[in-house]
Amino acid sequence: MRYIELVKTYTQLEKEPGKLKKVEILSELFSKTPEEVLEKVVTLSMGRVFPAYSDKKTGVATQMMIKIISKTTGLSEKDVVNKLKNLGDLGIVAEKCMEAKRQASLFTRNLTVDDVVTNVEKLSDLVGKGSQEKKIGLISNLLSSSKPEEAKYLIKTVIETFRIGVAEGIVRDAIAKSFGVNPTLVENAWFLRPNYGEIAVVAKKGGNEALERIEMEPGKPIVVMLGEKEPSIEEAIDKYEDAGAEWKFDGVRLQIHKKDGKIWLFTRRLENVTGQFPEIAEYAKSLNAKSCIIEGECIATDKEGNPLPFQKLSRRVQRKYDIKEMTRKVPVRVYLFDIVYLNSKPLMGEIFSKRREKLEKVVKPIPKKFEIVEQLRTKDLKKVREFYKKSLESKQEGLMIKNMAAKYQPGRRVGSWIKIKPVLEPLDLVITGAEWGKGKRSKWLSSVELSCRDADSGEFLECGKLGTGLTDEQFGDLTRKLKKLIVKEDGVNVKVKPEIVVEVGYEEIQKSPKYGSGFALRFPRLLRFRESDKKAVDADTLERVESIFKQQFSDV
Ligand code: ATP
Repeated sequence: MRYIELVKTYTQLEKEPGKLKKVEILSELFSKTPEEVLEKVVTLSMGRVFPAYSDKKTGVATQMMIKIISKTTGLSEKDVVNKLKNLGDLGIVAEKCMEAKRQASLFTRNLTVDDVVTNVEKLSDLVGKGSQEKKIGLISNLLSSSKPEEAKYLIKTVIETFRIGVAEGIVRDAIAKSFGVNPTLVENAWFLRPNYGEIAVVAKKGGNEALERIEMEPGKPIVVMLGEKEPSIEEAIDKYEDAGAEWKFDGVRLQIHKKDGKIWLFTRRLENVTGQFPEIAEYAKSLNAKSCIIEGECIATDKEGNPLPFQKLSRRVQRKYDIKEMTRKVPVRVYLFDIVYLNSKPLMGEIFSKRREKLEKVVKPIPKKFEIVEQLRTKDLKKVREFYKKSLESKQEGLMIKNMAAKYQPGRRVGSWIKIKPVLEPLDLVITGAEWGKGKRSKWLSSVELSCRDADSGEFLECGKLGTGLTDEQFGDLTRKLKKLIVKEDGVNVKVKPEIVVEVGYEEIQKSPKYGSGFALRFPRLLRFRESDKKAVDADTLERVESIFKQQFSDV
C-alpha cells in the first residue's frame, strides 16, 4: 500500500471537524487496506508507530530532525531553525522544504507504508555509539523519497508529535464500520488488549465471534477499572451490602504482570515502567503464581517507609537513566489491592471478595515494601470515619469504598468503587500570563498562568497553570482577549495585565517553591470565566489558598 494513500486520509481528517465524518473517512481507509498492513495502518492513523503500551520509542527529537531536514534538503541548519520559528511545526517545515526541493529534482520512488514502518521501527533498536548517524541515515533516506505532503506527516510521526484529532472512540467506530462488527465488542476488546491495530485484524478475519474471544495476556496492559465520587461516607457505605474500605493512597497505579518468571509493570496510562522500578520487579518475582496480573498503588517513601508527596514519585516515573541512584534516593512501597488474572485464567468475572482471597494466596508480603492493602470490611459508620481520618492524617487522599460482591469491569467508571476525598471549593483566580502553544496550537495562548491576590501588597502571585478544560473555541476567544493585555513577551512566554478572572476547580493544593504564592494547584481545570461579575481585586486571596491547603488535612 502506498504511503500517499494514508497521507491523503490524514489531510482529510485534519480538515474535518465532525466526529461522524471522521469515522467515515477512516473506515474507508481501513476497508481498502490489505490485511498484511492493516495493523500498521491502524496504529499509524492514531499517530503512533508502536502500540500505546510499547516501551519502544523512535528516540528522534527536534534537534536531530533539524539535522535530517538540513541534510536531505541542502538547507543550512540555521535556515531550518528559522523556518521552524516562523511556521511553529517541524512537519510543516519539512513539507515546505521538500516543496522547494521538488522544483529542483524529480522523484523516482513511491513510498509504501511498509517502507515507512520498517525504517521507523528500526529506530528504536538503535542505541549507543554511532546510532545517531544511523538514525539520520534511515530517516533521511525516507525523506528524500517523500512528496512534500508525505514529508509533513512522516516527520510528525517520527518525532511523535502527530495530532490529527483521531481519538480512540473514532478508531473504535471506524473499525466497527469497516468490518461490520459491534462497536461495544471492539471497545471491550480494547480494554483487555489496548491495541487497535491488532483488534482491527481480528475483526476483519473473524468478526464479532473472534472479538469476543480476545482475552488479557500477561505482558500486555489492561485498561483498568475506575471509581465514582460520592459526597459522603454515609452514602457510600449505604450503597453496598458488603462494603470494604481501603485507604486511597496518593501514588501511581501499577499493574504488575508475571509470566514464566518474567515481570512487567504498567501504569494506568498503559506506560511500561518496568525499567523505572527494578526493585518492584524483583519483589514481584516472589508472587506465588506461574502467571498473574495484580494491581496496586505505588507511593514514594522516606528511608523508614513513611509516605512522601506525589511529586517525588513522579520523578521516578519519568526518570529513564541513573535508575540505581533514584532507587536509593526515592524508595517506593506498593500496596496491592486486586488480582484479575491467575495461572492462565481471567478472574474478572469473580466477585471482589473471592479475588481478594486469591490475592492473599498469591502475595508473600515484604513488610513496608510490597504488601496487600489493609481492608476494613464493615458497615459501621463510626469505624469507617475513623479510618478516613487516619488516611488523611497520614497525608493520603481518603478512602476507596468497594463493593465486595462486584465483578471487575475494565475500562469503566462503574459503581463498584467509590472514592471519598475532601471536597475543595473552587477558586477565583486572575490570569497573569500564558505561553504560545506548539504545533496546531501555535496560534493560541495556552498554559495559562493563574494567580491569587496578596491582600496586603495587592500583588498577584502565581499558583498554577491551566492547560486543559477549554474548547478550541474558548482557546481562540481567550487568545484574542489576552493579546490585548500583553505587557511583556519573552520567547513563547507572555505576561498579561491581571484583568481576566476565572473560576477554577482542582484536585488539591500542594506547597510549591516554583510559584510566587508558595502553593500549586494540582490538575486545575476551568469551570467558567468570571469577567462579567468579578474584577481582579475580587479574586481569591493567598490567605484563602492557604486555608484550603490546611483544610485538606483536617476535613472529615
Ligand atoms: P484521582 O485523581 O482522585 O486519583 P482518578 O480519577 O484518577 O482519581 P478514581 O477511579 O477516582 O481515579 O480513583 C481510583 C484511583 O485511586 C486508582 O486509579 C488508583 O490509582 C488510586 N488508588 C489509591 N489507593 C487505591 C486503592 N486502595 N484501591 C484502588 N485504587 C486506589
